Amino acid sequence: MSSILRLVCVKCAAAYPEQRGGGATCPRCGPADGILDVQFDLERARRSLARECLGRRAASVWRYRELLPLSEGFDPAGSGLGDIGWTPLLEAPRLAAALGIARLRLKDESRNPSASFKDRASAIGVARAIQEGAGAVACASTGNAASSLAHCAAAAGLACNIFVPQRIPEGKLAQLLAYGARVFRVRGSYADAYELCARACERFGWYNRNCAVNPYLVEGKKTGGLELAEQCADDPPDWVAVSVGDGCTIAGIGKGLAEMRAVGVVSWSCRLLGVQAANVAPIARAFEIGRLESGAGEAPGGGAGTYADSINCPVPRNWRKAVRAVRDSGGAFVTVTDEQIMEAVRGTGRLAGVFAEPAAAAAVAGVVEARRRGILDGRSSVVAVITGSGLKDIRGAVAAVGGAHEIDAALEAVAAVVGSEGNQAGV
Ligand SMILES: *Cc1c(COP(=O)(O)O)cnc(C)c1O
Ligand SMILES: [Zn+2]
Repeated sequence: MSSILRLVCVKCAAAYPEQRGGGATCPRCGPADGILDVQFDLERARRSLARECLGRRAASVWRYRELLPLSEGFDPAGSGLGDIGWTPLLEAPRLAAALGIARLRLKDESRNPSASFKDRASAIGVARAIQEGAGAVACASTGNAASSLAHCAAAAGLACNIFVPQRIPEGKLAQLLAYGARVFRVRGSYADAYELCARACERFGWYNRNCAVNPYLVEGKKTGGLELAEQCADDPPDWVAVSVGDGCTIAGIGKGLAEMRAVGVVSWSCRLLGVQAANVAPIARAFEIGRLESGAGEAPGGGAGTYADSINCPVPRNWRKAVRAVRDSGGAFVTVTDEQIMEAVRGTGRLAGVFAEPAAAAAVAGVVEARRRGILDGRSSVVAVITGSGLKDIRGAVAAVGGAHEIDAALEAVAAVVGSEGNQAGV
């Protein structure tokens, strides 16, 4: 298997050899705490991962194969999984000015095939499933993890089983069904769907894509950091802002940035800004106090904690990886309200031309909050990761951006609106 050295428990640091399957955790620490981290032979990777060589490789996640958990001869692109990653980094000068920072770039992950960052993890999940000879994959998800898995499975010709809770945005459900996944809408909580999925995987031999326990998927998310480092090689940001739910995304991005430094492709490091929703912020809290508070993430009154569904994760499994990545980078956590997130949906659309789903716009809201708190200043250069497309959750978008003008089919009706609003769209 590629250059994997070992799997290391994030709690007790016990080391294990490379394993088949996706659900393995440290037996000493148990499934809730004993999440494993994949460690690569970076000395070996360093020999072939020079910047000049990288420039000649495919514009996708597969360009980093020395740092991916796949066996040497395996060709993922040949399995239909070619087109994932290498998303653009967009300059957003007007949004930067509105936020009061020197420079803002948006890493637009909505350009992935199923329109979210999760495609990076699912690509690795499906590649590993194929490698291990599994005919079917499964996951429990409120949305993007599921739609990305359904996309990758369809592209590669695997069967796909998805467990969703009752509340799931329609756009995401439609995507699942369009990609031909079998969808189980579980009467119960997300935790119920998650447990049921794990048990079904065991019973039916499906490959489990649940990011929380499958250590290989973080390696897929890591490509976001590897790529960002390469794209900013000569022009590093001070900060990278990432919205945080379970914690895998920011942990993966942090790991990717660190590995690119370790293999010598870049010589700089930057700080991570983790952003959580104010009502569901167990990892921001764990960052402060050094441990996960039991019940910390439960929404008051037991209701839905934030309308940014993709980061509505009251019981995160990967908080240790996330806290460590942010701490190692010298970074910070902030929390943002739903009102701030809506404001960021509007700003990101109007001032940068990027339609972000609420959980993605949260990263931009976090930049606003960090500027307000003095974590950033007028000289700061920031990359915000736009983790998913606004088309995923139309209701969430409409709640933020307001409605159309209902008018009669008459020029005078247009004139009345222009008269009251002015002739220029306000920027
Ligand atoms: C999953 C997701 C996140 C957060 O990723 P975690 O790994 O859960 O922290 C952020 N934004 C979007 C759009 C997502 O789908
Ligand atoms: Zn352990």
